[in-house]
Amino acid sequence: IEAVFRSWDNPRANVYRRDNDIPYSWGTAVNVMPMVFGNLNNQSGTGVAFTRDPATGENKLMGEFLINAQGEDVVAGVRTPMPIAQMEQEFPEAYAQFLEVCETLENHYHDMQDMEFTVENKKLYMLQCRNGKRTAQAALKIACDLVDEGHKTPAEAVAMIDPRNLDTLLHPQFDVKALKAATPMGKGLGASPGAACGKVVFTAEDAEKWNEMGEKVILVRLETSPEDITGMKAAQGILTVRGGMTSHAAVVARGMGTCCVSGCGDIVMDEENKKFTLAGKEFHEGDYISIDGSTGNIYDGIIETVDAQIAGEFGRIMAWADEFRKLKVRTNADTPADAKKARELGAEGIGLCRTEHMFFEEDRIAAFREMICSDTVEEREAALEKILPYQQGDFEALYEALEGCPVTIRFLDPPLHEFVPTEEADIEKLAKAQNKSVEEIKAIISSLHEFNPMMGHRGLRLAVTYPEIAKMQTKAVIRAAINVSKAHPDWNVAPEIMIPLACDAKELKYVKDIVVATADAEIAAAGVDMKYEVGTMIEIPRAALTAGDIAKEAEFFCFGTNDLTQMTFGFSRDDAGKFLNAYYDKKIFESDPFARLDTTGVGQLMEMAVKNGKATRPSLHCGICGEHGGDPTSVEFCHKIGLDYVSCSPFRVPIARLAAAQAAIAEM
Ligand code: PEP
Ligand code: MG
Repeated sequence: IEAVFRSWDNPRANVYRRDNDIPYSWGTAVNVMPMVFGNLNNQSGTGVAFTRDPATGENKLMGEFLINAQGEDVVAGVRTPMPIAQMEQEFPEAYAQFLEVCETLENHYHDMQDMEFTVENKKLYMLQCRNGKRTAQAALKIACDLVDEGHKTPAEAVAMIDPRNLDTLLHPQFDVKALKAATPMGKGLGASPGAACGKVVFTAEDAEKWNEMGEKVILVRLETSPEDITGMKAAQGILTVRGGMTSHAAVVARGMGTCCVSGCGDIVMDEENKKFTLAGKEFHEGDYISIDGSTGNIYDGIIETVDAQIAGEFGRIMAWADEFRKLKVRTNADTPADAKKARELGAEGIGLCRTEHMFFEEDRIAAFREMICSDTVEEREAALEKILPYQQGDFEALYEALEGCPVTIRFLDPPLHEFVPTEEADIEKLAKAQNKSVEEIKAIISSLHEFNPMMGHRGLRLAVTYPEIAKMQTKAVIRAAINVSKAHPDWNVAPEIMIPLACDAKELKYVKDIVVATADAEIAAAGVDMKYEVGTMIEIPRAALTAGDIAKEAEFFCFGTNDLTQMTFGFSRDDAGKFLNAYYDKKIFESDPFARLDTTGVGQLMEMAVKNGKATRPSLHCGICGEHGGDPTSVEFCHKIGLDYVSCSPFRVPIARLAAAQAAIAEM
């Protein structure tokens, strides 16, 4: 009994709770029961079963059974069990009764059940049941089937799907051609779908270590145990020698959405020497393999992967979700390709285009560096002249991709240390372009050095010192919008210009006035009628505190909760990872505030800013574009405080749509 209570406190329970949004304060409970014995003799046995297939959702009993065994033997994967159907031959009466129990339980809980049972001397005993864990694919199918069977309403069906689970549907699969050319060297059970390729590692610690070094890894284990959870999370895929579909590796990987092949008994494992043999070949740490978590196939070497195809029940559930949700869902996209992907996944606009990200390519970064390293207005304007056509072209492509849906373009916010050249060759190139000596350029670079670039000369501070940058960007935005609306008169191309990192109404007004004067001149010169809006990001606590004033100058707010979290906590968003683990271990924090919105602190600032902003300007529209915009718990909070939209990376758009619907359904 004590061991069960203690288990609430062990490190892997902490990791699991953090991943699944379970508060530490809940605690756990113990049931004390008389025991029956599946390992009494050959008239006894034990099994684990699901009322529906947890991998596909198909409405058929699925499970595993072992004669003369205890439950632990099935779930630990120590012995490979037989399919449940075989139980009918061994224990026909207990099996018939078991089928009846399955029906009773589903009719009671209106959901797929995961059950454990024991047969002792041919008599059936049910040990436990719970709503079964399932793949995303199965979750969608089961939810739709339950609606069709009259067990659930569409709202209940939408509410029963874990938004984070959708990730797996969106994960890569093997490229069909590459796969055709490949021959599997072995096969296990397809325990958790998706395709993965990476370098072989043999321990959870190595998986974590290699992952931190940027390597993709496949964790290969004899069998996994809960101690391996952090390594399993770090791995692209998991391959085990032992264990069935209900083994630890299978269940945990499925829950995490990580590709997993379990129970490949053909592998000869030598864990101690970090090697295994399969199909006559020896594999060592660092060798590449590929695994398919749907078919269970294992391949030698790298097989290219492609994006997931979403079909079937996904559309049905999403259509229901869209009926219920009040929040709009936009995307953070800087390229037309990302924007298109996001549109396919249901994005209703761009909530954040980080314009500095449009300069990462070789030829562009040169012009950008010329702009940064100019020391006269004339030099800077010359550099900006080079940049303008790039920007205008990019914006046109974005408006085209969005087909008249709203597009928010955020003005330059480059932490300077990310853009100044460090390589000698780049410095020489820049010197030549600027007609300066290498020494002069080096002097400029050292004058740009900042001790704390994230709190440095970035965001609208750049436009305050160099208004010509804001002018150039405004011209590019407005000219692009005019061109695209001429080509598509039926689209509503109304630019939303977003000024980042404001902390003061006067500061914002200074930049806004430049934007408005430039935009109005462009529109007048073109002789067109074009609407546009100028808004700001709320990323600094002072902006949130003075939101009533800021709203006088801003037509919309977008919460940049990455910076707002950084500045509210005083935690550097680049470095906090180094010490946050100690906060989890010591139960100071239960989750990473950069991943899940701190609703009590940062959230309070947001709520206040929305209220005070709208009091000044009732038409003010508000969104969020920090990473939290794709996190289900944070999306729920955004719904509660009355934001108009959330904006997140393309692959998280469906997650946000579902989370937004669930927040609305919870209030019904
Ligand atoms: C933010 O700070 O939340 C934000 C979206 O801007 P960036 O991440 O570019 O600083
Ligand atoms: Mg920011």
